[in-house]
Amino acid sequence: MLLNPKTETFDHLDERSAKIMKKTIEYFESRGKERLKHDYHERIWYSDFLDFLKENRVFSTLLTPSELADDNPDARWDTFRNCDFNEILGFYNLSHWYTWQVSILGLGPIWMSRNEAIRKKTADHLKDGGIFAFGLSEKEHGADLYSSDMSLTPLGDGKYIADGGKYYIGNANEASFVSTFGVNSETEEYVFFVADPKREGYDLVRNVVDWEGYVAEYGLSGYPVSEDEILAQGREAWDMALNTINVGKFNLGWASIGICTHAFFEGLNHAANRNLYGNYVTDFPHIRQLFVDAYTRLAAMKLFAQRATDYMRAASPDDRRYLLYDPMVKMKVPTQGEEVINHIWDVIAAKGFEKDVYFEMAATDIRALPKLEGTVHVNMALVIKFMANYFFNPGEFPDIPKMTEPVDDTFLFNQGPTKGLGKIRFHDYHIAYDKVDLPNVNIFKEQIKVLSDFLTYATPSGEQAKNMDFLLTLGELFTLVAYGQLLLEKYDMEDLGEDLLEQIFDFMIRDFSKHALALKLKPDTTEGQMEYCMKMIAKPVYDHDRFLRVWETHVYTLRDAYEMTS
Ligand SMILES: Cc1cc2nc3c(=O)[nH]c(=O)nc-3n(C[C@H](O)[C@H](O)[C@H](O)COP(=O)(O)OP(=O)(O)OC[C@H]3O[C@@H](n4cnc5c(N)ncnc54)[C@H](O)[C@@H]3O)c2cc1C
Repeated sequence: MLLNPKTETFDHLDERSAKIMKKTIEYFESRGKERLKHDYHERIWYSDFLDFLKENRVFSTLLTPSELADDNPDARWDTFRNCDFNEILGFYNLSHWYTWQVSILGLGPIWMSRNEAIRKKTADHLKDGGIFAFGLSEKEHGADLYSSDMSLTPLGDGKYIADGGKYYIGNANEASFVSTFGVNSETEEYVFFVADPKREGYDLVRNVVDWEGYVAEYGLSGYPVSEDEILAQGREAWDMALNTINVGKFNLGWASIGICTHAFFEGLNHAANRNLYGNYVTDFPHIRQLFVDAYTRLAAMKLFAQRATDYMRAASPDDRRYLLYDPMVKMKVPTQGEEVINHIWDVIAAKGFEKDVYFEMAATDIRALPKLEGTVHVNMALVIKFMANYFFNPGEFPDIPKMTEPVDDTFLFNQGPTKGLGKIRFHDYHIAYDKVDLPNVNIFKEQIKVLSDFLTYATPSGEQAKNMDFLLTLGELFTLVAYGQLLLEKYDMEDLGEDLLEQIFDFMIRDFSKHALALKLKPDTTEGQMEYCMKMIAKPVYDHDRFLRVWETHVYTLRDAYEMTS
């Protein structure tokens, strides 16, 4: 279930992809934990990592669509294998993951563009070991992309000048191209163009964070742009921005899984070898509970993200269900990751502060993921748009199998218009739930039934539907239903045993109850709605033998299974 870099064979990948993963692990293990922590504390820019990526043609293999890589038969954009790479980088260091992540974002508008010359140049830059950047955010505007101030002024003869500033832009110090979003000052249409940090007029102001990664503030003043550096204008440029985020945000869940996995191994090793009052820390019942909760949450994060990968890869103009599961990998998985780190920190206590341990990084970095590529709120606001169709207007779809084929995910760069979200339909969630008849899954099904009754008979009013505070809590309940659905689908495909599933639904029932109580306590929840909320609160079935089996066979067995090379 969990990635163990010392034993993982990557047999699920083709030979070249497996080699990339193993070499990347070797890169981190041979540098060792001491160097990892030293460079982290000293905030040393990871030029040796970029050299490693270049020498091994890692980005050019993993991030070039095959149609643009005539001399590299292994190059393709394959979400299945990219998940492995995400997980490995998260496992070792989020700052290293970040240079990959923002390269993906920077490449998004380019691969979506019809500008063939830039696409070819970009493939060449990738071959030369280039990294990329995505210049969307601005200092004053945060999530409000409509207010972007970066301007592109036409001078005639296909020439323009760009003026304005961008803020929080990763890799913008060394990127081959910075895909920059702005507004045509004459037509007031949105525009995406590429900027080159080496050119005059590009002012790299500073790194706005105190980190190994470079998160830049940059300015363009009278920066010359030619027609052939423009990626798109108008609605196409707007769609490019949002569709690129759709591609990039999926990685956040996988980075979170990587961070939590490393922290889990480290935390368990510490607790299992620490003796207090004549007992090992792992003998305390509350410590076992914390570890079982951490493990089951982490297992669920991974199973959900794996199943969501299938939907990302199967997406098409007629199947846009990924637009629900993708933001959930972005916000639900990383917020679960925060819970996992909280549980482990409660166990390892002071150890988590030590400068030599990985955990100290994990505790800080895990907080970033819910906040990147749109906050949890923004993604929840998006997901809520699907709630009515999800519950009350299901569609028919062919079954989506495991999508592990080594092929290009071309649709991700042809997602089309970003509108029409309210019309997207989903397959009936009952199909997955009805296949399982186990005590905790059944309790969860009853909770879902009450939520569905709440929406039918105590439907939120127009005022409540405008109150984001109320909706966000309702959204938590909704996302738990979809989370459980994909978990069950994944379970149906694998032979993972009932114990783990029941233990996963143990925390799912508790989480559902917690959010139901929160909804009840909102200021504008009506009496009728409060009654439904109370009915949603349920207690999981506690089976001590099952708990012990999960503890023994899934959790405790991992003690001393992995330790990073010092
Ligand atoms: C380390 C780091 C790296 C980054 N890298 C990049 C990068 O490479 N490229 C890039 O373009 N950007 C990057 N960003 C910017 C990141 O995407 C923004 O942080 C994000 O868009 C949110 O903007 P903000 O933090 O300014 O919050 P604000 O937009 O100021 O939001 C303030 C509050 O309002 C809420 N809110 C805003 N809009 C809505 C809404 N519609 N519905 C509900 N709630 C809402 C938010 O949830 C938040 O709580 C990076 C940020 C960080 C911290």
